Amino acid sequence: MGEKTTILIVDAKNEDRSILMQIGKKHPEYRFLEADTVGRALDLLESERKPDLIMLDIVSPNLDGLRLLNFLKKNERFRSVPVVAGTLPGAAEVSRKAAKFGVADFLMKPYDVPNAEACIEKAIHSGGMQGERDSLTGLYTAESFYAETAKMLRENAGKEYTLLFFNLANFALVNDLQGRETGDNILKQIASTMAAGMHHKGVCGRVADDHFVCCIETEHPGDELGFYEYMESRVRKLAWQFHFTLECGIYPIDDITLSVKDMCDRGEFALGDVKGIHLEKYAYYDKGTAEKYYHEQMMIADREKALTEGQFYVVFQPVFDAVIEKVVGAEALVRWRHPVLGVISPQRYVPLFEKDGFIHKLDLFVWEEACKVLADLKRRGGALRPISVNVSRIDLYHPDLADSLERLLAKYQIEKKYLFLEITESAYVEQPQEMINVVSDLRKRGFKIMMDDFGSGYSSLNMLKDMPVDVLKIDMNFMQQLESSRRAGNIVISIIRMAKLLHIDTVAEGVETKEQKEFLKNIGCDEIQGYYFAKPMPADDFCSFMMKEPRHQEERTGYKKGVLVVDDVTVIRKSLIQALGDEYTYYEAANGQQALDILKTEASQISIIITDVFMPVMDGFELIGKLQENPIYSHIPIIVVTVSEERENEIKALKLGAVDVITKPYDPVSAKHRVKNVLKIAEAERLQMEIKLLNEKNIK
Ligand code: C2E
Ligand code: CA
Ligand code: CA
Repeated sequence: MGEKTTILIVDAKNEDRSILMQIGKKHPEYRFLEADTVGRALDLLESERKPDLIMLDIVSPNLDGLRLLNFLKKNERFRSVPVVAGTLPGAAEVSRKAAKFGVADFLMKPYDVPNAEACIEKAIHSGGMQGERDSLTGLYTAESFYAETAKMLRENAGKEYTLLFFNLANFALVNDLQGRETGDNILKQIASTMAAGMHHKGVCGRVADDHFVCCIETEHPGDELGFYEYMESRVRKLAWQFHFTLECGIYPIDDITLSVKDMCDRGEFALGDVKGIHLEKYAYYDKGTAEKYYHEQMMIADREKALTEGQFYVVFQPVFDAVIEKVVGAEALVRWRHPVLGVISPQRYVPLFEKDGFIHKLDLFVWEEACKVLADLKRRGGALRPISVNVSRIDLYHPDLADSLERLLAKYQIEKKYLFLEITESAYVEQPQEMINVVSDLRKRGFKIMMDDFGSGYSSLNMLKDMPVDVLKIDMNFMQQLESSRRAGNIVISIIRMAKLLHIDTVAEGVETKEQKEFLKNIGCDEIQGYYFAKPMPADDFCSFMMKEPRHQEERTGYKKGVLVVDDVTVIRKSLIQALGDEYTYYEAANGQQALDILKTEASQISIIITDVFMPVMDGFELIGKLQENPIYSHIPIIVVTVSEERENEIKALKLGAVDVITKPYDPVSAKHRVKNVLKIAEAERLQMEIKLLNEKNIK
């Protein structure tokens, strides 16, 4: 800093100039420049180094001090130079005008040395800033930071600025462990580091104990990071032994209509995104995150009122039988029509309301609405089908859960079999034992339990062993992946087969296309919910919809296991069918290709395939190969019919994957038993294999 502090005196009065010059005797570090007119002052400003302070006479009529002041404050180069205005006790009007332009201080004329000296010192050390200062660090306080920044932004409307919000994480510990004094010293050092780094290119302040802010000009992209790095590198040296860290939230000012306080809030908000990555402890303000946050706050603030004012309502989505495609039930889903946010998806607020338990209140409302619809349909003589309601993981821990459900059903005189409870799989993953207890209790009381979102989480099939449920709802994500991922299809196949073996019904959710529906029907899924059949609809529409349905549910025809008989000779097919009796439903094909065609639509109905070896178009070997390749068919056991002399064909078929052989001419009784045994063994093996497979996958 070796250079002297330059003070420019602009004063029409010789006496006043010389009083000020006397201060130089005591302060050799000051260098004075003198001007008695504005013109002379402008010359000096142009030819000399920029002064550190200007002492300006604003009252002499032959020197237009205000004009010079106006020039200084409009001029980018001199704006930051502090000006002390020399005035007179009676000159209120001109002083007020000067204050408007911005001056560091006023000094009463005629000057005296001690007063002038104090004034000059103060003006120089406050660096030209006039707002209220934080007594510890000398930086602006929050209010004056807002005011100074607003002024700067106003005066430099065309320039780019960025707000940086600095937080000293864990700083409280420094005060606790090292004492207040050490803490204060660190804060002072940080403050002076910050002030020094500004280079008059912005404003800085301390807005709370360990919160510093600055608003700096960012001419080039990345300038703000340069400043952050400057601060970081210096503060790190202080910080490492005291174990605090400097974090920075950055808001590049893109909306100058905001108040500076709001800009600071954005900077502070961005702090929330600072991750624990070493050295890189800054984050930019993100509009999306912030908006989400504000909306969440809004939803929390508005929800009680919304519930009493009827902003929440319930929609019903019909569920269809996969084979006969008739309505077999519906799911109740909540909706919120918010006056500002519009209709909001439950995915946005259900998780939010689960955090503090408000969801229970909302769910009770939804359950009651579902009961009302059932009661309404009952009263009007419409078709009654079970409606399922969502039971949040939070509801499960409500001691009153089962009782409040029973009270509701009693109030509306609805039988338990009409209100199904959907519990999400992820609740099990969190607290398995609790969930087992609650679910067992509910089932004992006669409630039907549906496992929602099955396959979405990391739970395993073991769950179903410990906690029996009545229905599995297969997670919607699988549907979206069916086309692209063979694996997703395989998992769905496994889930459905396994559920069948455990006598649990399956519902596929989120079915949007005919292809998905066909696939699901074909692999034996029982019920289907999705936009393909129907979207969720308001209660009134749902009731009208149900009024058109027959009151009594159409039954699917009695279930018999299907046997696919493949032989090119009709008589042989018929005699085999006769031998096996009427225990089965039969499908007949004259060759391998026909067999595959039948399987395309009927695979879920076929439990065993009995095939000849030699046939036109596609022989038995090729058929076996094709069946083994396809995961939808590979589990169906195959019995091959050969002639006793053709041992090598028998072996070839077994090698390809057939499970048993019937040799011609056969004994009808023994053939019948072979088929029975194969089915029994296949079923047991399959159960084992499915469980193993699914457990291994743990699904995703
Ligand atoms: P969820 O229980 O899995 O509900 C199924 C969601 O899939 C519903 O979304 C439904 O509208 C949507 N959906 C139905 N068919 C299709 C389709 O074909 N394609 C697509 N893409 N989506 C389909 P929604 O109503 O937005 O509900 C989202 C989630 O919010 C629900 O998932 C459930 O977890 C929760 N939720 C909804 N209502 C309630 C409620 O009353 N209480 C509680 N606790 N949670 C609820
Ligand atoms: Ca559900
Ligand atoms: Ca679901």
